[in-house]
Amino acid sequence: MNPLTQIARASRPICRTLSTTAPVTAAKSIPTTGFCFELSEEQKALQDLARKFTKDEIIPVAAQYDKSGEYPWPIVKKAWSLGLMNAHIPEHCGGMGTLGVFEECIIGEEFGFGCTGITTAVGGTNLGQAPVILGGNKEQQKKYLGRLIDEPLVAAYCVTEPVAGSDVAGIKTKAEKKGDEWILNGQKMWITNGGVANWYFVLARTNPDPKCPASKAFTGFIVEKDWPGVTPGRKEMNMGQRASDTRGITFEDVRIPKENVLIGEGAGFKIAMGTFDKTRPPVAAGATGLARRALDEATKYSLERKTFGVPIARHQAIAFMLADMAIGVETARLAWQMAAWQVDHGQKNTVLASVAKCHASEIANKAATDAVQIFGGNGFNTEYPVEKLMRDAKIYQIYEGTSQIQRLIISRELLTNAAQS
Ligand SMILES: Cc1cc2nc3c(=O)[nH]c(=O)nc-3n(C[C@H](O)[C@H](O)[C@H](O)COP(=O)(O)OP(=O)(O)OC[C@H]3O[C@@H](n4cnc5c(N)ncnc54)[C@H](O)[C@@H]3O)c2cc1C
Repeated sequence: MNPLTQIARASRPICRTLSTTAPVTAAKSIPTTGFCFELSEEQKALQDLARKFTKDEIIPVAAQYDKSGEYPWPIVKKAWSLGLMNAHIPEHCGGMGTLGVFEECIIGEEFGFGCTGITTAVGGTNLGQAPVILGGNKEQQKKYLGRLIDEPLVAAYCVTEPVAGSDVAGIKTKAEKKGDEWILNGQKMWITNGGVANWYFVLARTNPDPKCPASKAFTGFIVEKDWPGVTPGRKEMNMGQRASDTRGITFEDVRIPKENVLIGEGAGFKIAMGTFDKTRPPVAAGATGLARRALDEATKYSLERKTFGVPIARHQAIAFMLADMAIGVETARLAWQMAAWQVDHGQKNTVLASVAKCHASEIANKAATDAVQIFGGNGFNTEYPVEKLMRDAKIYQIYEGTSQIQRLIISRELLTNAAQS
């Protein structure tokens, strides 16, 4: 039994937010007493495990993977064997079941402190899995999620295309029904794990009528990478998070059995969008980890580097930058904690997931940029760790919905509520 399974088994019933009161029996029930910000013993153990893994396995090789751009299979395999992946896969598929998005975020923040390229490489599979957890029937879940428990394999989420990213309803990949099969044709772009995944969640248009609303026009499929007609493109050379494998994928007359449709024809858009409620909080947690690392590196450096006869930390301009970074880390963490807590307790968290993702992304970028500033000329050089943080941070404002799209989601809800009141 891997260490995380032991933690998970011990944590049943798990107390997510209360450490002093009686455990909450149902993992998804809402505590009856007030706020508590302390992790449960099990969550602390999980955090310790992820922190040790980050220190021993991720930090020593982060720069090497950043340079080579290789997919970090040895780390993925080790994280898988320790149970630091797939924490949320249901028990009927062989998973632990009792761990939720909150626990995934705990791991994500720790890994993010070590290297967010590796975090995305290890955690990108969750984005592929979430639609199957949300919309898959028992057989689909057992077959495809179970496979990820049985072997160190990963999944991917294929929605974005060369012609459409933010405007998901503008995608052109189509699937046509022929007897008991669907025939898939189209091209996806910027797919995390595109070249290394065993299977994909693919969103395709199944109703060609342009007047058909998005909520009915698209269908979600599970597509295996090895099926005829599936061709991943070359690995993209990105600005940062280079350990992550990003590719375009072409689908040419791919035959999908009807058993691989999620929920039913026309349900795809809802599944694809609903996925983000579960995946944006962990993205925010990874960004929080990156900001924490920027603060850590900048603090150490500012105590060592001297100008005008004193450590630069003694200059108020530098000390205040550190203080701002600390404010950012604390608030970004609170934001992912709230968003994760809500979804784990069965509450609608779309707005807070966007708040967390948008806020943590911006905090990560500000913290990384300020860390480079504190390092001065050294900050601009690849021999020091902070230029990588700055390159790695940028993608947080783009993938899983840009910062503009998060603001669109938040403002829409705000204005709808205001109009109704
Ligand atoms: C490294 C990487 C990994 C990725 N991984 C995946 C993955 O695994 N699966 C997947 O499906 N996709 C993935 N993506 C795609 C990513 O989600 C999209 O790039 C993102 O959603 C933006 O889409 P776009 O690039 O088409 O930009 P566009 O949609 O063309 O947007 C361009 C600019 O316009 C802004 N904009 C667009 N619409 C509006 C609006 N209504 N109001 C205000 N501003 C607006 C955007 O914020 C952006 O600044 C990944 C991308 C990258 C770079």
